[in-house]
Amino acid sequence: MWRLLRLAKPSGVLLSTAAAMSLVSVAGTLAFPVLTKQLVDELAKGAVDTSSITLLAVVMLAGAVASALSAYLLSRVGYDLIAALRTLLIDKLLRLPVASFDQESTGERVSRVLNDCQSISELATRQAINLLSGVLVLVGSITVLMFLDTWLTLTVLGCIVLAFGVVLPLVAFLEKLALSTQDRTAKLGGILTHVLSEIRLVKAFTAESRERERSRLEIQDIRNLGIQVAKISAVLGPLISLSLTAAILVVLIYGSSRVSNGSISIGTLTAFILYIFNVAVPLIQLTTFLEELQKARGASTRIAGLLQGTEESTGGEAVASSHGTLEFRNVSFSYPGRESKVLHEINLVFQPGTTSALVGASGNGKTTVLSLIERFYAPTDGSILYDGKSIGDFALAAWRERIGYVAQSAPIMPGTVRDNILYGLSDDFPDDMVNMAAEKAGALAFIEQMPQGLDTILSEQGANLSGGQRQRIAIARMFLRNPDILILDEATSSLDSETEHQVKLALESLMQGRTNIVVAHRLSTVIHADRIYFLDRGRISGSGSHDELLTTHSHYARLVSRQFREPVREAVEEPLLEADAG
Ligand code: ADP
Ligand code: MG
Repeated sequence: MWRLLRLAKPSGVLLSTAAAMSLVSVAGTLAFPVLTKQLVDELAKGAVDTSSITLLAVVMLAGAVASALSAYLLSRVGYDLIAALRTLLIDKLLRLPVASFDQESTGERVSRVLNDCQSISELATRQAINLLSGVLVLVGSITVLMFLDTWLTLTVLGCIVLAFGVVLPLVAFLEKLALSTQDRTAKLGGILTHVLSEIRLVKAFTAESRERERSRLEIQDIRNLGIQVAKISAVLGPLISLSLTAAILVVLIYGSSRVSNGSISIGTLTAFILYIFNVAVPLIQLTTFLEELQKARGASTRIAGLLQGTEESTGGEAVASSHGTLEFRNVSFSYPGRESKVLHEINLVFQPGTTSALVGASGNGKTTVLSLIERFYAPTDGSILYDGKSIGDFALAAWRERIGYVAQSAPIMPGTVRDNILYGLSDDFPDDMVNMAAEKAGALAFIEQMPQGLDTILSEQGANLSGGQRQRIAIARMFLRNPDILILDEATSSLDSETEHQVKLALESLMQGRTNIVVAHRLSTVIHADRIYFLDRGRISGSGSHDELLTTHSHYARLVSRQFREPVREAVEEPLLEADAG
């Protein structure tokens, strides 16, 4: 936690001013009973000095102002701290490699950025200063009391210790309940995030009742925890007031006997009663401090774990050539945390300006090969070279800028059509260039039909666009991005044949003069590739042109004859849900 705070650098000036202000307010709190004692004693003697009234008023006022200031400053530092921690985390999250996102749920990470940062800031500002001033008030009060009267002090302390003996176990239990409530709420959040983002799946499989039941169980559990908390809290409040009242009574009874035998003044007794609150309040604060400490400890362990993750490297060489050969040399790969190899010593050569195709049944590692080119993952063994240099040595951003990746389902980011076409492009393109790119991608017609054209807001995940339209927006983006290496991962697989034809035309013009790497199911796409690689369970079982493979690779030949003999089968093999998205 300490390291985290040092990273977030809360303002030292503000924090120490807040601490100073809270010291002033502590001094006021400590002085108040003593000054009251003086006033009461003067009243008892019938000779009130106006200066003691003025002093009391000034001390009360100054204490109040100081405490208000300190509260404000603390909140400010707190908000600054939350903002700094969140920025730090988001920055980190964006730098983490793709692999780290395979391992942890998105909902959990969101909760880190939102809740955990809050807990830490709460502890580091408000709770820390509360603890400091609470301890000072406690120690100060007891010292002053000792000076006033030893026996009465011991009576007060005895009462309070007794009262806390009763209250503390309850408070500890309450803390435990609060922690489990927090955990369960986070879990419910995770379930909800999942269900809502996959609402189409839920509805398509009429799984609403199942999902309702699943969240109902969590909701019930949280409710039950809440009711337990309510029971204990209901008892705790009155218990604390009862204990305090009892303590005051004991002090009153013992104290008034002392007043009547003349060993203390009535003012001293008044001061004692007031100090009971001074001692009790910090002790109550201490219990909330312990609760917050526990929360923040958990939060900082989780955040620290995240911050320790290795980032994608930022440095590296510039990519010199724009028309190098991309080459896989004996590349093996297994996903991090998995034993089994997905790719086994594969060798691939992608010549500049040519089109290569990867074919093979689903699950044979085609997308994995493409992920390695994008450097989402690094090969476990072997090397990937571009223009003779390992691609791992290039500056990551510079390398990725060379690549255009069009996947099966083109993702849409929140924003307008224009934002989406310009997504990730560093230059500012004028509208006529955007329109031209849209035209080449076959997207202009439907964009112009949209209510606000380029300014139409696209809903989350592009639900107000068809699959083919999203794909054409992705292609328009590629025309502007102008990559050297173009990767098409089943880019037309989820489209109906009419849309597929249009998208294919757009893609053909996009592929002109680039190094193209194409993954496709349809042989019509593959046949014209300069070189075809056949991937079989992570191994290259054959490569060459279509005609070469037809004669050398029986599996390929079988596939070809099947697809050309029964063109209808192809359509049936399309997954129904994806066709629906188009
Ligand atoms: P293809 O694109 O040819 O259908 P993939 O490259 O997507 O195949 O997958 C190849 C294998 O790697 C599959 O067995 C799949 O289960 C596994 N795999 C894919 N992505 C991941 C991942 N992120 N983590 C672990 N295993 C994965
Ligand atoms: Mg794939």
